[in-house]
Amino acid sequence: MGEGGESLDFDTRAVRAGVARTHFNEHSEALFLTSSFVFDSAAQAAARFAGEEAGFVYSRFSNPTVTAFQERLAALEEAEACVATASGMSAILACCMALLKSGDRIVSSSSIFGATVQLFTNVLARFGVETAFVDGTDPAAGRAAGRPGTKLVFREPPSNPLTEVFAGAALAEVAHEAGALLVVDNCLCTPALQLPLALGADVVIHSATKYLDGQGRVLGGAVLGRKEIVTGAVFPFLRTAGPSLSPFNAWVLLKGLETLRLRMEAHSAAAFELARWLEAHPRVARVHYPFLESHPQRALAKRQQRAGGAIVSFDVRGGREAAWRVIDATRMISITANLGDTKSTITHPGTTTHGRISAEARAAAGIGEGLLRVAVGLESVEDLKRDLARGLDA
Ligand SMILES: *Cc1c(COP(=O)(O)O)cnc(C)c1O
Repeated sequence: MGEGGESLDFDTRAVRAGVARTHFNEHSEALFLTSSFVFDSAAQAAARFAGEEAGFVYSRFSNPTVTAFQERLAALEEAEACVATASGMSAILACCMALLKSGDRIVSSSSIFGATVQLFTNVLARFGVETAFVDGTDPAAGRAAGRPGTKLVFREPPSNPLTEVFAGAALAEVAHEAGALLVVDNCLCTPALQLPLALGADVVIHSATKYLDGQGRVLGGAVLGRKEIVTGAVFPFLRTAGPSLSPFNAWVLLKGLETLRLRMEAHSAAAFELARWLEAHPRVARVHYPFLESHPQRALAKRQQRAGGAIVSFDVRGGREAAWRVIDATRMISITANLGDTKSTITHPGTTTHGRISAEARAAAGIGEGLLRVAVGLESVEDLKRDLARGLDA
């Protein structure tokens, strides 16, 4: 656990957990760019391969920099164990490959990351794993988990782009009664704002590419939870199949964790202010942000999250034409579907991230033609308002 066990405060763990200095006594964490490790003797090599002696063998299995990142993230999520992966998608894949077999079912909220939907429907379905998509906010929909064969219940709170929240403890109970595990993709809140394991989840997934890095530099992911799940099931899959995190990326992410809470609070404060400003704008019909008075699940969100996060979605009066006008009038905000960066981004979900689903399904999911999503970065919020006002006031 390095210098920062779980008895220390979050901010201290973010900076100190996972530190294991080499004999050089470097102050900053060392970066081990090596694919393999050497042994003192044939006997030691045999003992390491057999798992009888602890130690590094090969960086597909483990690497000191990757281990440092895993220990620090585990300390922040208050998880027994963590394995890092090459990307967020490989974290979800590794979790599914480790915990599911042909004939098993996933019950997932329908408002989850697009590539996760593709993974469940186009990839896992070919291997006999079926996914039922439900309304994540409907408590009754959780009961779909009760159907036989359900092994994973999957959620991504707050959902993207509509920022829907679900009651963690209640859903965990439904999942456990059905013999399923509750898996939460904590990408949008990060442990700085929300601790899904403490709310009853069994597994936490991360796309470290987003806020854990926070500066748009590297890809990475992680799976966290109890040792029996993470070390016992997910790690053996990863070690064999190979979507492991690169030591370089692990080092970047490790340093990203040091500023995570400061960044998440700054993102959230700016997003909340932008949300209130948008709500007061005559050309905006509705704003979706968890901590707004108008958010239908505000009380629940406030119980489960320390702040509202960086994602603000809003319906512009005048449909697609008006929404596109707002995008095209921006001079600073980046027109891209990516998020989790210091640079704010804007996207029209109906024709990008959610463009491939039918118009009816989009409407049912509440993703209208006038909906825009801003992932608020760390620029001045006054500059963000000016950039959006240009198109809104036109
Ligand atoms: C980006 C993202 C992923 C996938 O992560 P990658 O690192 O791009 O593979 C998964 N879930 C959510 C919520 C995301 O935003």
